[in-house]
Amino acid sequence: MKDSAHAKFTIVPAGRSFKGEDQRAPLRGGLQSCGEYGAGQTAGRFYPIACVALEVTQRCNLDCTLCYLSDRAEMTYDPPLSVLFARLATIRSHYGAGVSVQLTGGDPTLRKVEDLEALCREIRRLGMRSCLMTNGIRASRAMLTRLAAAGLDDVAFHVDMTQERKGFRSEVELNTVRRAYIRRVRGLGLRILFNTTVFGGNFDDLPALARFLRDCPEVAFVSFQMQADTGRGVLRARPDAITQDSVARAIEAGYETPLHFGTTAVGHSKCNRYASVVTAGGRAVSLLSNQPLVHKVIAALEDVDDKQDAFIRIRPTLRRAIRRYPFLALRALGQLVFSVARLGPGLLRGPVRRQAVFIHNFMAADDLEEDRCASCVFMVATASGPLSMCVHNAQRDLHLASPDRIDGPAGPSWWNAAVPRLSRQANLPDLNDPALAPLKRLKGQMRVLRRNQKDAS
Ligand code: SF4
Repeated sequence: MKDSAHAKFTIVPAGRSFKGEDQRAPLRGGLQSCGEYGAGQTAGRFYPIACVALEVTQRCNLDCTLCYLSDRAEMTYDPPLSVLFARLATIRSHYGAGVSVQLTGGDPTLRKVEDLEALCREIRRLGMRSCLMTNGIRASRAMLTRLAAAGLDDVAFHVDMTQERKGFRSEVELNTVRRAYIRRVRGLGLRILFNTTVFGGNFDDLPALARFLRDCPEVAFVSFQMQADTGRGVLRARPDAITQDSVARAIEAGYETPLHFGTTAVGHSKCNRYASVVTAGGRAVSLLSNQPLVHKVIAALEDVDDKQDAFIRIRPTLRRAIRRYPFLALRALGQLVFSVARLGPGLLRGPVRRQAVFIHNFMAADDLEEDRCASCVFMVATASGPLSMCVHNAQRDLHLASPDRIDGPAGPSWWNAAVPRLSRQANLPDLNDPALAPLKRLKGQMRVLRRNQKDAS
C-alpha cells in the first residue's frame, strides 16, 4: 500500500474517542480515584498518556526467557499497513498530537524497511513521535539511516541477559553490544534509549550496568523493567529480592548519587519510578533533589497551561510561567546551575547531558490490580482502541483474534491475525486453528515442553 492511501481508511474502534474533549481527563480521573494525583504527578496533568505501543509483527529473532508474547503469537500474520495506519489514526484521536508511538512487536525490524518508513512518515504526518523498539540485531546503520530520513525520532535498544545472546556471560560483557549500537546511531539525530529487564540472573550486575549507562553521554533515557510473570517466557515469578526499592537502590549505587525517585510521578507509583539527572565525565547529579521547589514549578506550569491541547506545549508554557512567576523561575534556574556545578571535575572530562532514568514494574498476568490498569500510562493499540499494556499481555491471543474493521472506498473489510490479508467477510477464521498459519518456530514454554517430550520419547 502506498503512503497516500492513509486517507482512505479509518478504523471503527469499540473504545471511545476523546477528540474535542479534555484528552487528559481519563488518565487524570484514574489517578485521582486511586489517590495517585499528588503534587508531583505529571501524568494526566501535562499529558494524556506516556506512550502507545503499535505492534507491527509478532515475529522475533530472539526467544527471551522473559518474553511477553504468547506461545501462539508467532503463528500469526503481520497486520497489513492499512490496519496499522487505521490504528495510528485511533491513537491520534484518543491522545492528540505529541504522543510517542512505539513501533514494536516481536521485533519490528523483521518487517520490510519500506513498511517501517511508511509508518514513520505517517506518525510524523499525524504530529506524533515515533520510537523503534528493537533488540538491534537487524537494526543496521543503513536501516536506521533510512528510518531517520523518514521521520523516526527515537530508537530504544533492548539488550540484556534474558536474550541469551551467544558468548555473553553478564550484563557487563553485553556492554560491547551496547557500545556497538550507540556507534551505529551516532550522527543520525535519533534519541537513544536502552531497555533492560531486571531479573534474578542480572540483579547483581545492576550497579555496574547503571554506571555504564550513566557514562554514555549519547544515551538520553534508560529504562529498567522488572521481571513479570506474563507471556511465554520460561522464567516465571519474580524473586522476592527484586522490588521497586531494591532496584532503585541498585541504580543509585551505580550512579553514585541519590536519584530522588519519589519527587515526581509518571502514573501510578506502583507502576513507575522516574528520575532525571545531569551527567558529565563520569558523574551524575539529580535534578529532583529539591522536592518543594519541583512541586512549586509543577503547580506554576499547571497554572499557566492553557489546557487546550492534550500534550503540554512546553516552550510557550515555560515562557508564560517565567513571566508570571519570575522569582520562582530565578530559583529554579539557580537550582539548575547549582546541580551542574556539583558535577565538579566531571565538567572538565565530558559534555553535560540530561538523562532520564525509569523503573517500570509490569504486573503478573494472573495478578492484575484494577486501579493500576485503570490509570495505566503505557498502552497498546488494539482493534478496539488503546488498552493497558499489562492487560494486553495477559490477554494477547484474545486481541490477536479480534478483527479490525477497516472502512475503505469499496465498503468495510476485516482483518485478524489468523489471516494474511483483509477480508470482505466479517466471520474470520479462528486463530486457534493451526492449519491457518504454519507453526514456523516454537518459542518460550512451548519450545521447552516439546523438547522435553522429544527427550522422553
Ligand atoms: S503497563 Fe502495567 S505496570 Fe505499566 S503503567 Fe500500565 S498498568 Fe502500570
